[in-house]
Amino acid sequence: MTILTRRVHLCALALLVAGNAAAQTITTPRQHFGFDIGDDYQLATYTQFMDYWQKIDKESSRMQVIEIGTTEEGRPHLAAIITAPENFAKLDRYKQISQQLHRGGGLTDAQARLLAREGKAVVWIDGGLHATEVVGPHQLIETVFQLVSRTDEETTRILRDVIVVAVHANPDGMQMVSKCYMQNAEPTARRTCSPRLYEKYAGHDNNRDFYMSNVKETQNMNKLMYWEWLPQIMYNHHQSGPVGTVIFAPPFRDPFNYNLDPMIVTGLDLVGSAMHNRFLQEGKPGFTMRSGAPYSTWWNGGLRTTAYFQNIIGLLTEIIGSPTPSQIPPTMSQILPRGDLPAPIRPQEWRFRQSIDYSVTANYAVLDLASRYKDQFLFNIYRMGANQIERGSRDHWTISSQDMTRLQAAAAPSAPAPSSGGRGGRGAEGGASTARRRRRR
Ligand SMILES: [Zn+2]
Repeated sequence: MTILTRRVHLCALALLVAGNAAAQTITTPRQHFGFDIGDDYQLATYTQFMDYWQKIDKESSRMQVIEIGTTEEGRPHLAAIITAPENFAKLDRYKQISQQLHRGGGLTDAQARLLAREGKAVVWIDGGLHATEVVGPHQLIETVFQLVSRTDEETTRILRDVIVVAVHANPDGMQMVSKCYMQNAEPTARRTCSPRLYEKYAGHDNNRDFYMSNVKETQNMNKLMYWEWLPQIMYNHHQSGPVGTVIFAPPFRDPFNYNLDPMIVTGLDLVGSAMHNRFLQEGKPGFTMRSGAPYSTWWNGGLRTTAYFQNIIGLLTEIIGSPTPSQIPPTMSQILPRGDLPAPIRPQEWRFRQSIDYSVTANYAVLDLASRYKDQFLFNIYRMGANQIERGSRDHWTISSQDMTRLQAAAAPSAPAPSSGGRGGRGAEGGASTARRRRRR
């Protein structure tokens, strides 16, 4: 059911017949996979994932599966649009509004506010980019299932206000890693493994390809993100969390990338706070931020970070977890609460389902905020675009840490001159030091 017109007709029919979405019966993950997502020693393959999404697409008027291309190994590369049934009839209009506000130019502020009111917030959620980080695609299965099956007030409101673009980020990798994990007949002997590169050409460096689009998976996702939907928020799931914690969540450490619009930074604070508060509301301690990990806004070639240059609020989380139960070890530096670790977690055994639940909490925090502040997020991406057009229309220069080094040297003529590269001083961390401190993500 991938043709939009047919989809719209079916949605309309479903509404008429069923009266409301609650009447729909959605196949549960247990019914389809034979286990609940997050059960110990169980991983789903991409073939099973694809069958499941196609099955619940037929059952739900909230979901439209789309094939965004093929992978390097020839598999269909799936994404899904999830929103309220009535929004599908106006999907092209909502896409047009998202594109128009993103461009920033040609609108007055008043026109932008009207479009923001009419439009829907667009939120991208992906999973599975790094295939051995198995929480990623599995939290995507669980989150999408909850979005299409839950009938609570919050889910209904989210679906009314938000268009969720759910994207599998590495189908070939999921197939390879899940088959490798499940090959041992004795469940307790199963361990995460990958027989070879889990993206045919790039392996883990599939997250180094988004600025140059060399491999098909990147081309498919970049087209969906930058040519079609231009989400106001995108959320890129990774593993693993810092030792002694469960999850690293935004905001990111200083220094902030001053080449970006400052509303990216305040936007990251806003969305990050929504995650942190919801973790605490639901009794989920052990999240850390900023200085809790080396992740920053300076690596410019990844799925999350190329988005910043399109004024998209890009989120990254790094979570622990494996279907083979693991441990949160005693860690001296993670015992005392601090600003970047408000609620430390006790050492304990850790199960896969807990990581799935934390991920769903984080996704719902983002979606709830996007629903409540829909007009704000839509207007803000217009504001950022308009800011850049305005800066480019006059003599504008971005002040860098190297400029500051030179300025400080000029202000103190008796002090020793800076080295020739101008990279002296702490302010240059965003350049050379970041490369040294960067972790794989
Ligand atoms: Zn990763």
